[in-house]
Amino acid sequence: MIRFLDLGPTTEEITGEVAAGWDEVLRTGRFIGGPFVDEFERGFAEYCGTAHAIGVANGTDALHLALRAMDIGPDDEVVVPTNTFVATAEAVVLAGAVPRFADVDNDTLLLTPETLRAAVTPSTKAVVVVHLYGQMADMDALGRTTAELDIKLIEDAAQAQGARWRDVRAGAWGSVGCFSFYPGKNLGAFGDAGAVVTSDGEIAERIRSIRDHGRANGGHYQHDRFGVNSRLDALQAVVLAAKLPLLDGWNAQRRELADHYRRCLDPDGAKLVTVAPEAEAIHHLAVAQVRNRDQVREALLARGIETGIHYPTPCHRLPPYASYFGNGALPVSEAAAERIVSLPLYPHMTMAQVETVAAELNHVVERGAAA
Ligand SMILES: *Cc1c(COP(=O)(O)O)cnc(C)c1O
Repeated sequence: MIRFLDLGPTTEEITGEVAAGWDEVLRTGRFIGGPFVDEFERGFAEYCGTAHAIGVANGTDALHLALRAMDIGPDDEVVVPTNTFVATAEAVVLAGAVPRFADVDNDTLLLTPETLRAAVTPSTKAVVVVHLYGQMADMDALGRTTAELDIKLIEDAAQAQGARWRDVRAGAWGSVGCFSFYPGKNLGAFGDAGAVVTSDGEIAERIRSIRDHGRANGGHYQHDRFGVNSRLDALQAVVLAAKLPLLDGWNAQRRELADHYRRCLDPDGAKLVTVAPEAEAIHHLAVAQVRNRDQVREALLARGIETGIHYPTPCHRLPPYASYFGNGALPVSEAAAERIVSLPLYPHMTMAQVETVAAELNHVVERGAAA
């Protein structure tokens, strides 16, 4: 049996440190905020290369609060790639704004300046660039394009903790970078958690206030703006602080495994998503495009190999979001949704397991220019 994802081995590496930290939290009773949250926020900002990191309850709120802190709301449009997890678009709706769906590149399955421009209207205030699958979108080109269009650039780096475009990490390119620490992410908590990183002190201050019922500095019952309850709790901060020093090593393991997939898979059958030469990807997912996707998944499962689809339906075709889209099509994303398959990949998986998956896939995949 080769599982799609096994969190066990990475959890084992930190069990002792987490137990000690949780003992301390239980002893002091500082469950919300406190030194562990402060320490993780400092460490994560330093890791990303930003001045601030603000812990929040989950990745969806990271995006939602970032948009609100940037004064994006009713009557504003925000471009999002349709090939993403639904939370990217959901956060735009939560902020009261309107999502505009954009297509993606056929080789990277990421947003490009061209697909962004095709979705922009005079009401567009921002774009959420998603570094899907742990890759990096072209931040040089998208930075230039957003400057020309005079719209804000927000990064959804939920799948890209530690990825780099040239020498700058995901999250540090945009006005804000938004992270999820859902357990299955490369940096995952033991429950829900998230963070926003930014080097803009004003935005950081607003997010700190919004995540905590709109409290202002100081007064416990002084609420200066509408807020929400979206704080990072101390128990999760202990887990994240214990994992952060191990993240680069885990990401390097994923990179080696992903490179091995690339060596072992027949490119005439399974076409792995392309990583740009400027990018250091962290391979949250190993996604290939194949012609006979459903047959491939069934055959692999019959041999004990689990796979996934990320994601089966592009956001603009999901019922609650279709009304924002109207007629028309985003043909690259729609075609890719029929062909994509995510292969097992996680730290501590073995090269031999990669070879087994690749051999079975090469055996069953339909040949001839996957895409
Ligand atoms: C996981 C994820 C989110 C949402 O994060 P949650 O912590 O689950 O709320 C947002 N965007 C992308 C691309 C994700 O993968």
